[in-house]
Amino acid sequence: MQWYAQNGRDLPWRKTADPYAVWVSEIILQQTRVNQGMQYYYNFLSKFPTVSHLAHAEPDQLLKVWEGLGYYSRAINMQKSAAIIFQNYGANSPTTYEEWLELPGVGPYTAAAIVSAAFNHPVAAIDTNGYRVISRLFAVNSDIPEAQRKKRVQSIADSLLDLANPGQFNQALMDFGAMVCRPKNPLCTQCIFGSDCVAFQQGATDKYPQKTRQSNIRKRFFYYFKILLVDNCGNEKLLVCQRQKPDIWRYLYELPMIEADKECSIDEIMQLTQKSEWVGLLPFLDMGVFGKPIRHKLTHQLLEARLIMGKLPHSDLAKVTNPFCWVTFEAFELLPKHRLISKLMSNKRGD
Ligand code: SF4
Repeated sequence: MQWYAQNGRDLPWRKTADPYAVWVSEIILQQTRVNQGMQYYYNFLSKFPTVSHLAHAEPDQLLKVWEGLGYYSRAINMQKSAAIIFQNYGANSPTTYEEWLELPGVGPYTAAAIVSAAFNHPVAAIDTNGYRVISRLFAVNSDIPEAQRKKRVQSIADSLLDLANPGQFNQALMDFGAMVCRPKNPLCTQCIFGSDCVAFQQGATDKYPQKTRQSNIRKRFFYYFKILLVDNCGNEKLLVCQRQKPDIWRYLYELPMIEADKECSIDEIMQLTQKSEWVGLLPFLDMGVFGKPIRHKLTHQLLEARLIMGKLPHSDLAKVTNPFCWVTFEAFELLPKHRLISKLMSNKRGD
């Protein structure tokens, strides 16, 4: 706590005890670095300043604010939770750990972080930073199963918790892990716990916490079709669709696409398109060539995407049904999209 008083990070969500703002910050910071999350935090609160605003927001507007942050189910779950809170608590919010834990997208860490910061409830919140610090300090046995390790770390943190200032304790642990007890190259020689830290004394800081086995990376090949037409008023329009299936990027907008499990030739792709929902347009399309492949990494997936150009000669042929629609380029800009489609459209390379 002394270290934190002198070195803790000055972050906007630490200056408020508003559970809604704390909740927003915690959800944004799941899987997101603080620097990247900061602007999203400000934007989110300015667009949706209360639970009621979030509960009643247009889903497209919500996803637009989240655009580029990834893990879009976080935003969708927040809106589901906001509707539950609004219905059950009105202008208030849940106050206990158990009540928060009931909400979609709120796990043990997030519930603990919210109630400790907003209500001073004595619950230790262990994020990956805190988990690393405790694992190394106490050399939490790497031979025991992962679930038991987590329990052990939680019970050590609970026993150390500053009961008068649990929110600050949790933030201190998090900052200490982020700034000193870093995943790689921890600053052990300058560390205030150097002589107490079992992992450091054993020269084994890289052994703690034990890595959970990485699941296999799934490779996917996405072939997107940029299909254009000029309507009867002379406006150029683009065929777009909203992703509906329970998969990555659900409810975001993109171009019509075909997925394959291997790299395909143009003939193979044309065969695959025969199963597509927009197959009716194909005989009329003036097809162009492949764009360059673009790779896009997600946590457990590696995507390779290419763009295929197509033009419809007459707007009379343009009838499509939900989830497909024709939009101008300006309208497409305003829709929530994933980063890969923005990269493909601007023909940028890289992640
Ligand atoms: Fe972390 Fe090193 Fe300090 Fe141990 S001595 S708590 S491993 S920074």
